[in-house]
Amino acid sequence: MTVGRFAPSPSGKMHLGNLFSFLLAWCALRAEKGEMVLRMEDLDPQRTGPEYAALIRRDLLRFGLNWDREVPAQSSRTAAYDEAFAKLEALGLIYPCYCSRSEVHAASAPHLGQSEFVYAGTCRNLSPEQRAAKNRLPAWRLRVPNEKWTVHDGLQGDYTELLSRDCGDFVLRRADGVYAYQLAVTVDDADNGVTQVVRGRDLLASTPRQMYLFSLLGRPAPEYYHVPLLLAPDGRRLSKRDGDLDLDSLLDRYSPEQIIGTLAHAAGLIDRKEAVSAAELAAVFDWKKVKKEDIYLTL
Ligand code: GLU
Repeated sequence: MTVGRFAPSPSGKMHLGNLFSFLLAWCALRAEKGEMVLRMEDLDPQRTGPEYAALIRRDLLRFGLNWDREVPAQSSRTAAYDEAFAKLEALGLIYPCYCSRSEVHAASAPHLGQSEFVYAGTCRNLSPEQRAAKNRLPAWRLRVPNEKWTVHDGLQGDYTELLSRDCGDFVLRRADGVYAYQLAVTVDDADNGVTQVVRGRDLLASTPRQMYLFSLLGRPAPEYYHVPLLLAPDGRRLSKRDGDLDLDSLLDRYSPEQIIGTLAHAAGLIDRKEAVSAAELAAVFDWKKVKKEDIYLTL
């Protein structure tokens, strides 16, 4: 059976962009009669909280986007991440990194346009003496090989990265002990039995890294569909900062079905902007109709 997932970060309320990718994930999965898992990605205790998790659950259900089981949140999964980390360490693939930028954003999913940089490998081959001389707690990086990894994305087509050139050794654990998104999401998708990942196109560039981790951990990678991002009319990506596109204020003006209809029309799934429920949309869902490119949204 196909197993999909909603993997929100409870770092704020859900916005229209999140709703758009969750709607596509749900319809694609329900069209195949698959099972939906909900997983709260609350890795970073300073940025996430249960109050937002509760609001996200409420908002999903308001739009008819239900799930079959909720799996443990990332904040309670440290033992599983420790185990995977130890396995990679035993393969000799992890090293401590003392560079200060390594801490920055390492625990959160890197979204398109955020400062992603290819690590130069500064700490890759430090001697034990050099390590001892550093006066700070290290982050932990995974060595990547000079290998190409290709995602056969169900919507975007093939996307290839040469890991050493396009990605570089990446952080698995921050200096403060918080595990990085890349490790956590891979371990969770494997342990939750996820076979289909539908998420925003901004995460396509993380996928070769995750595929590499799946292979090192001896687990199969899921199939991927990276869906377009919604853009405000001026070209900005919709975000939590767009207060006017806050779901509560939209729901003051429109019904959930009207909002779904607008999103479905923007995605290319229906010909006219008309009210439709998530269940009705799942019944006509077809990946062949879904647009690949980012979408300017007009309400
Ligand atoms: N929790 C991540 C986010 O908010 C999504 C991770 C994923 O879908 O892999 O962007």
